[in-house]
Amino acid sequence: MNSKQANAVKELAAPVNKVLEELEWDCPECEGYGHRIVHREDFRIIHGDWKPRPCSTCNGTGKIKYSWTPQVGEWCYNERMGSPPELISEVDLSRDTSIRVGQYIWTNPVFRTPILEWKTIEEILEKAGYYFEEPIKRVYGSEGSKCHCVIKKLGNPKPVGVAWADSRIRAVYEAIKELGKEQAKKKGANDEPDKNR
Ligand SMILES: [Zn+2]
Repeated sequence: MNSKQANAVKELAAPVNKVLEELEWDCPECEGYGHRIVHREDFRIIHGDWKPRPCSTCNGTGKIKYSWTPQVGEWCYNERMGSPPELISEVDLSRDTSIRVGQYIWTNPVFRTPILEWKTIEEILEKAGYYFEEPIKRVYGSEGSKCHCVIKKLGNPKPVGVAWADSRIRAVYEAIKELGKEQAKKKGANDEPDKNR
């Protein structure tokens, strides 16, 4: 992604990141159990109401939520300052995460919003059980050429995010925004009255 491409989707980066942060998947450490995997052999030895200690990776929830870990070569921007896209040239994860953009080093870049590559987004989606239905490609139609992106969840034939846009990255970002609407609908489904009656 070059700076022009990053700039073209900048205003969608914050809502997209918010949607991604809602995604979760089974903790790879405990495989979703929330505690150390106890084998039958252990049960034979340990009796009573002994419980394994909560998994330290997921704090016993069994789930991992997506959160951005900055990478060298990624674009980000400062949402508060409305800065142009900034390229991350150094990352130090040793104590507080710090990143270098241009001549500046920022510690704990909480106000930075990532402008992720569509491939990176695909990897995050796959962890949470979503996928792009087909390779995102340019389709020629009556309105000229547009890129088409369809997101589905494994085991569900109904798309959860569909978008047409002028570029592949924009199509992905727009489709993720649609996925966000589905997430919000699901959240509000229990307390909102049925409006479609
Ligand atoms: Zn765990």
